[in-house]
Amino acid sequence: MDSSDEGHLNLELEVGLKNGCIELPFEHQPETLAIQDAVKLLLQGLREDVNREGIKKTPFRVAKALREGTRGYKQKVKEFVQSALFPEAGLDEGVGQAGGVGGLVVVRDLDHYSYCESCLLPFHVRCHIGYVPSEQRVLGLSKFSRVADVFAKRLQEPQRLADDICSALQHWVKPSGVAVVLQCSHIRFPTLDVDSLSSSSHHGFVKLMVSSGSGVFEDESSDLWGEFLSLLKFKGVKTQALCRNGGSVREWCPSLKSSSKLSPEEDTEMVSAVVSILKSLGEDPSRKELIATPARFLKWMMNFQNANLEMKLNGFNCVKSKCEISESRLHCELNLPFWSMCEHHLLPFYGVVHIGYFCAEGYIPNSTATSLMKSIVHFYGFKLQVQERMTRQIAETLSPLVGGDVIVVAEAGHTCMISRGIEKFGSSTATIAVLGRFSNDGSARAAFLDKIHTATALKTDSSFPI
Ligand SMILES: [Zn+2]
Ligand SMILES: [Zn+2]
Repeated sequence: MDSSDEGHLNLELEVGLKNGCIELPFEHQPETLAIQDAVKLLLQGLREDVNREGIKKTPFRVAKALREGTRGYKQKVKEFVQSALFPEAGLDEGVGQAGGVGGLVVVRDLDHYSYCESCLLPFHVRCHIGYVPSEQRVLGLSKFSRVADVFAKRLQEPQRLADDICSALQHWVKPSGVAVVLQCSHIRFPTLDVDSLSSSSHHGFVKLMVSSGSGVFEDESSDLWGEFLSLLKFKGVKTQALCRNGGSVREWCPSLKSSSKLSPEEDTEMVSAVVSILKSLGEDPSRKELIATPARFLKWMMNFQNANLEMKLNGFNCVKSKCEISESRLHCELNLPFWSMCEHHLLPFYGVVHIGYFCAEGYIPNSTATSLMKSIVHFYGFKLQVQERMTRQIAETLSPLVGGDVIVVAEAGHTCMISRGIEKFGSSTATIAVLGRFSNDGSARAAFLDKIHTATALKTDSSFPI
């Protein structure tokens, strides 16, 4: 076959594809390509070199994660439900209710993640579903999770997600009633202000519990609801936090609390890039709830612009240990909070950094030392990063300032781990970098790790939800 034939064949293939005869491989689908182009533009907006090794494949990874994470737009509840409705004699209309709660079936602790429609960050959903079967028909238990996932894998907010799951089950299963309770956790937002980076304010999650009911569960003050909630309490769900009026639902995403006004450098080109991402996911960017989403998304993303944040290195004068090692003392700065953005997936990771170093006996670290460490952590945090590199960079920067013997441990939760479905929600990653004496002195490392352990055991850990 000569090259012109080949060209002809390619053309035919393309026409065939356009007519929907063959499904294109994922990486060639127009939606994937459009998202990749948009992400490239965003990376340039972050002043990154899009050909840099670490981020060369980021546009593809982001496109894959986003499309995978919103696959619910293309899924149909009917397909999951129809084949899984089983006859079960004895479950006649009214029997369940007549016996009080005799017919109640509760499926608890279904873990999902969804994308927040206000800021495009993933949030975690723990879903509990109760229903009272009727017409001698029950739904296969695994299908509750399937149905929840169809709606979770979209751009969502908690109340709508609960309502969607509830009405879909009511519609396709036709039971006497369905009750849904969702426990949702959304990460907090980064703040660029070093001093307000205290672990209490920027760590942890915004949590919201919402419910939805249909049929015999329409009245949320009914006994049946009470029974359902009791069955959740057995599993440690704090149902008193249930938000019934929808009041705080509108406030739930942290991006809604800050103004979505962009600073001048966030240009219209970047906004259109995010709009094109929304379209490629199958959403309508002009939907009321989504209108300000591109601006909100850019607002948090631009925190990680590759800018030279001022690192206050002057004014710090650690007394370099000139004496023998035996006379120097181990100093620690523990639990310095940080925010960063995973350069592979453009999603935040955040946590704390612990620093240990040796200084001469008699040297007492002052507040200048602490604020120096904080700003170094801050500097290496607020950019596109990988945790391993950040840990090493902090150690290398500190090394000449503190006399060469330094150990750095970073502990972080990675949003990309949740959203790509790999994660058991709440897992965390620890990285360690050692220089100087810490490289070959196991007992020095052990002494430092022990200090972290003691400090961590003291504080009640609220970093991770549920
Ligand atoms: Zn949000
Ligand atoms: Zn990642």
